[in-house]
Amino acid sequence: MTRTAPAVPGPTRTALLYVRVFDGHALTEPCTVVIDGGVIAPHTDASGARLVDGTGMTLLPGLIDAHVHLHGADTLAVLASHGVTTALDMATWPPRLLASLRRVPHLTDIRSAGTPAIGDGGPHARIPGMSKDAVVRGPREAGEFVAAQVSAGADYIKIVAEAPGEGGPDRETLDALVAAARTHGRKTVVHAATTGAYRMALDAGADFITHVPMDRPLHAGEAARTAAQGQVCIPTLTMMEGTAAAKGIAPAYRSAVRSVAALHDAGVPILAGTDANAQPGVPFQVEHGASIHHELELLVEAGLTPVEALRSATVLPARHFDLDDRGAVKPGLRADLLLVDGNPLADIRATRALRQVWCAGVEQVAGV
Ligand SMILES: [Zn+2]
Repeated sequence: MTRTAPAVPGPTRTALLYVRVFDGHALTEPCTVVIDGGVIAPHTDASGARLVDGTGMTLLPGLIDAHVHLHGADTLAVLASHGVTTALDMATWPPRLLASLRRVPHLTDIRSAGTPAIGDGGPHARIPGMSKDAVVRGPREAGEFVAAQVSAGADYIKIVAEAPGEGGPDRETLDALVAAARTHGRKTVVHAATTGAYRMALDAGADFITHVPMDRPLHAGEAARTAAQGQVCIPTLTMMEGTAAAKGIAPAYRSAVRSVAALHDAGVPILAGTDANAQPGVPFQVEHGASIHHELELLVEAGLTPVEALRSATVLPARHFDLDDRGAVKPGLRADLLLVDGNPLADIRATRALRQVWCAGVEQVAGV
């Protein structure tokens, strides 16, 4: 994994000249964008600013990876260097480690679920070092678990569902966890890598379902129900691909891709998430940072247009995770920005051609 030097605060004003901007739907004509302090300026006055010639380049909102696991400040530096300016963590403990990764100046900004809720008999209970606090033994423990996560600062609640009878929380417990989260004003993200778990996540009304089933493709009816219930999917195709390869089960990945296509056809919002992790004992370790670019490519292979793939890592995660200050290149928003060579709307692989990255206006050491 690439290690980068710590980012140093740059000049307070930078003007990007002749750059074409991804406005969420298309590229603008070449224009000027001014970074002023940590935000995008409401004007294009370049006087006194450091000038960057963006001719032939595209300016994107900083990428949001909607499914990562964090291990330390090094992880944030690697994410930032690859253009991931916001990382949505789906399980990091203990709370002390997590607290040390929040609001780290000049690096990737995070939100986190803290400790996930798991059953006492599934594969997650056997992950080395899994927190004992993660186990929820029945609906009566749901309220206490959610209250503990909220008081530890959880931004949302992560729940690991397994197919019925495979050691995850049972249906009543899952329902109780989702209800308790709602009471506390927190959204829920439910892990579902089998159709059995997916159905439980549908029944429970989880806000987000992460992964996609690998045992068979989702039916059109299941996808339509996901859309009708307003649920959002974070498929983590990079993890599904790696897991299928590690286990030698290629058809499982083809199922995952077909599930994404079904969800996309049904109009379910799809978010780019990689499941980046360096956790021993899990099926596949996904590299932080570089993997978001791979995920965008896999989403395009699954049927999203390049514009939809870019939206899945910018405007859509910002909207659905209530991050009102980012996800677009607009005056007043955080200057989380990515300058790339070429046009990723024509070829999504252009997101890898990173020239510069800014986290809240601070230039990073870019390198994919
Ligand atoms: Zn994960």
